[in-house]
Amino acid sequence: MLEIRGTHREVGRQIGEAMKSRLQALAAREREDLPHGVAWNELLQQGQLSLARSRTVYPQYVEEVEGIAEAAGLPMDELFLCLCEELWEPAAWRHGCTDLVARGRATADGSTLVAHTNDLGPEVEEDLVLLKVQAGDEPEFLGVSVGGVGYSAGFNAAGISMTGNQVSCNDIRPGVPRLLCVRAILAARRLEDAMNACLLPSRASNYNNVIADAYGEVYSMEGSATDCEPIYIDGDILAHANHYVSPPMRHFEADRNEVGNSVIRHNRAWRLLRENYGLLTPERFQVLLADHANYPGSICKHGLESVTVFSLVIRLEERRAWIGKGRPCQTTYHEYALEPYGPPVS
Ligand SMILES: [Zn+2]
Repeated sequence: MLEIRGTHREVGRQIGEAMKSRLQALAAREREDLPHGVAWNELLQQGQLSLARSRTVYPQYVEEVEGIAEAAGLPMDELFLCLCEELWEPAAWRHGCTDLVARGRATADGSTLVAHTNDLGPEVEEDLVLLKVQAGDEPEFLGVSVGGVGYSAGFNAAGISMTGNQVSCNDIRPGVPRLLCVRAILAARRLEDAMNACLLPSRASNYNNVIADAYGEVYSMEGSATDCEPIYIDGDILAHANHYVSPPMRHFEADRNEVGNSVIRHNRAWRLLRENYGLLTPERFQVLLADHANYPGSICKHGLESVTVFSLVIRLEERRAWIGKGRPCQTTYHEYALEPYGPPVS
């Protein structure tokens, strides 16, 4: 874990300094692993366009990336491309991630619990870093990052969590990369800030961002570049995987025949939530995240192309999380907490 504070640029520099060799390897890998038919120069041009749009909307987060690039000794346009995954990621490449949320009557003590598995290529596991960041005047946050550039999941001192799932949309366009919108969620002081980041009009694409606050308000923001369906938690439980489930969003699915694995994890997650209704605790969630139905394509994923590289459970009311690296069935969860920020929750 890296603990850093300062201006946005200083925060970036500290990350770049600490992660220098990892970031240089990541940037080199990105250049070598270009999808078939994609030209590097074209990609750089598209990245420049995304960068220009990002500067007008999120200049502070562009400064963070600039700080990382300076300290890691990487050209800014190349490092920024690492954030623009929608530009180079093959549509068929589904990361996979499963989210399970419970609140109120569904949890043993009425608290709000957000659980998440994060599935990526197995080679990514050694690039993972846990960052505890206080940037500018923003609330402190704890986020899991690949190499220090871009955040996969986390929560902040204001009691806002950001987890969620990669979805493959068919309306990707030039704009602010979704990984930068996710950075903005981690800075949210209230749920509306987080929601507005998911709804950013100039976004290039989107995730299904699962956002929640310490009042127990939970949304699955099922988004594409041009549309987004905020799915509200129903009956105190919510689950989501990597395909569009709301009727208004289904036609944004890049390939409706590629969703099999996600459908199985999605329904399995709902079943586990129903069967454990009223009994859910952080410990019980850790057991559920290790579920092996449809192994190796299970919630605890052991597949070849993508595996669960980390998982976490967050209790928002007390700004506390349990985070485990690697497969949930093999990991040891470590506890982390943040000092609460902002008005008390009543
Ligand atoms: Zn397992």
